[in-house]
Amino acid sequence: MAADKKPAAAPAKKKAAASGRFQLYEKSGNGVKAKNRVCPKCGPGFFMGAHKNRIVCGKCGYTEILTAPAK
Ligand SMILES: [Zn+2]
Repeated sequence: MAADKKPAAAPAKKKAAASGRFQLYEKSGNGVKAKNRVCPKCGPGFFMGAHKNRIVCGKCGYTEILTAPAK
C-alpha cells in the first residue's frame, strides 16, 4: 500500500512583530515619546525594564525602587 501523499503544507510563518525597540515609543503629536524610563547612567536610548516594584537597566544594572503611592 502506498503511503498517502499529503500536499506539502507551507509552514505557517508568523509575521514578525515590529522589532522590539520601536514598541518602546509612542507616537504623540509631532514626535515620539519614550514609554519607558531611560537609564540615567547609560543615557537616552537605554531603556529600563519595568518590574513589579522596581525598574532595572539591563545594561549597567542600575535599579530604581518604585515606592507605592501612599494612601
Ligand atoms: Zn544603565
